[in-house]
Amino acid sequence: MAGRAPVATVMTRLAKAIDGLDEPAVEKIAKEQQEDAFQVLIATMLSAQTKDAVTAAASSRLFRVARTPRTMARLTHAQIERSIYPVSFYRNKAVHVKETCRQLVARFGGRVPSTMEELLTLPGVGRKTANLVLILAHRSQENICVDTHVHRISNRLGWIRTRTPEETEHALYRVAPRRWWPVINLYLVTWGQNVCRPVYPLCPQCVLADVCPKIGVTKVGKLVKPA
Ligand code: SF4
Repeated sequence: MAGRAPVATVMTRLAKAIDGLDEPAVEKIAKEQQEDAFQVLIATMLSAQTKDAVTAAASSRLFRVARTPRTMARLTHAQIERSIYPVSFYRNKAVHVKETCRQLVARFGGRVPSTMEELLTLPGVGRKTANLVLILAHRSQENICVDTHVHRISNRLGWIRTRTPEETEHALYRVAPRRWWPVINLYLVTWGQNVCRPVYPLCPQCVLADVCPKIGVTKVGKLVKPA
């Protein structure tokens, strides 16, 4: 099948299909912490290129030691590293976390800013992190958060044809109706972790199989049933 899977059909089906599947770590942290902007920001920074279980455990260890920008800024790099190990690039992330906390205190009165422009001035904060903080903590309806899952699946569905997550974000603003923007990340990341995996996606079991053009998919996987 060529063409493009209808966005509304995909999103409506995924809304039901993800029910009961494990949510991405940062979404869980946001819900558990009543959308605490600081914890969403730090957990998202830790989550880059790191498995969800590792992000969740590292975030909770770090928040046990410090829960505010002021207290976290006082930690040494070594203390932060010890709390967040083994997230990927934990040394760099420790430097960024400490400096971000320092700047939150010095420039923003200890609060997490609520604009893309201000968020992007913080060290280690890119568009993905900024968009997720705006959506989950500041309840923005105006942003789409694109990570590798959203980038990959949007292209497989034929919604867009892009080479980078940043191109994908801008293309999605044009093709996806606004009502879906805040949940595109939650739906596609959850689907990407469970069904539309990077390699060997589970197309035969996918609720989108009849509408998805499966662009770029060459080999599909089989669901391993428990013995
Ligand atoms: S798993 Fe297959 S059918 Fe489902 S969205 Fe991904 S590429 Fe499309």
